Amino acid sequence: MRLARQLEKLGTETAFAVSGAAAAWAAKGHKVYPFHLGDINIPTPANIVEAAYKAIRDGYTGYCPAAGIPELRAVIADDVGRKRGVTYSAENVSVQPGGKPVIGKFIAAVMDPGDEVLYPNPGYPIYESQIEYQGGVAVPYGYVEKDGGFELDIDAIRRSITPRTKALIYNNYQNPTGAQSTRQEMEELAELALKHDLWVLSDDAYYEMRYSGEPLSIVNLPGMQERTVILYTCSKRFAMTGWRLGAAIGPKEVIDVINKLNTNAESCTTHFIQRAMVEAIPGDTSGPDQILQILRERRDAAVAGLNAIDGISIQAPESTFYLFPNVTKILERKGMSDVNQLMDEALVRTNVSFCTRKHFGRPLPGEKHAYIRLAYSGIDVDDIREGLQRLKEYFES
Ligand code: PLP
Repeated sequence: MRLARQLEKLGTETAFAVSGAAAAWAAKGHKVYPFHLGDINIPTPANIVEAAYKAIRDGYTGYCPAAGIPELRAVIADDVGRKRGVTYSAENVSVQPGGKPVIGKFIAAVMDPGDEVLYPNPGYPIYESQIEYQGGVAVPYGYVEKDGGFELDIDAIRRSITPRTKALIYNNYQNPTGAQSTRQEMEELAELALKHDLWVLSDDAYYEMRYSGEPLSIVNLPGMQERTVILYTCSKRFAMTGWRLGAAIGPKEVIDVINKLNTNAESCTTHFIQRAMVEAIPGDTSGPDQILQILRERRDAAVAGLNAIDGISIQAPESTFYLFPNVTKILERKGMSDVNQLMDEALVRTNVSFCTRKHFGRPLPGEKHAYIRLAYSGIDVDDIREGLQRLKEYFES
């Protein structure tokens, strides 16, 4: 029997294959330095754990509304709006099992087959997968490397817009580059969205994972709140990746559709987890503050470790927990043409696992440089130092 043809269009997160290779190597008795996956090895704050236990004991174990419990919708509306300088109400919020489902549901809500959707590449690979799986045309835009950091390629976006462009996916505080927009860039982007009447998905997965500076949000610009859906998640801020709690926040007409999609898919997001977050989201910030403090220390160690390698030079990103160094010189030194060969060999020679540019969307035509991506969220600072010292010896040899 044959499976559906449309499956040919379905992508995946190939980074999970790197996890598989790392786990297989560890199973052979090697100590692996896991820089590959954006998971967090810091415990969820104790007040949240206790609130979840209590919610289970109190009997919040049945179904709840597909849109989320009203108290949590109101809390998220208030928190997300306040932190972006706009006003949302509960009806603008659809609670989700994580941030990721917002991507496919947003696309289902705004895109018809054949429509074009702009998305960041390198970027989170699920954008490309969902656009194509749902019958759209995935149109990539890239980032420009400058002084060891990355900037949004606004000109590429401008050039790629056609009469068929329906939506733009935008991930400020970006995975994997750590790029963050200036106000001017964001204004230019908003101008394009308004001029071409585009829907926008603002993937705010790392909006609160900033080490300095005031945040900028595209919904804060004139005319944007009406056309933007925010992807919100508790995964990173509260070190809750496995709990699965997030939300879509946007215009009521889109949120109503997303709620209907919830009913068709998971029915509702886990009831007691929602209950636990009603107090935690607006409450005590010491847990999230501590998580950021730990991550900042790791970032500094990782940036120093990478910059100590001959041929690598990066800036410390002010957000996310990813580093995306250019390793073109390392490949040249080793006479390699494929960055994934470097990844495979590094695991065996150094026990260090990482992803490469190839895990973040199909490479664009004409790309000249090779990149690897290191996440420092799942590895302690001593292991960061040790792992990068091992990488240095291998990369320089
Ligand atoms: N968006 C980006 C850019 C991400 O990097 C991730 C996770 O790594 C997500 C969305 C989804 O995260 P979650 O589903 O855990 O909220």
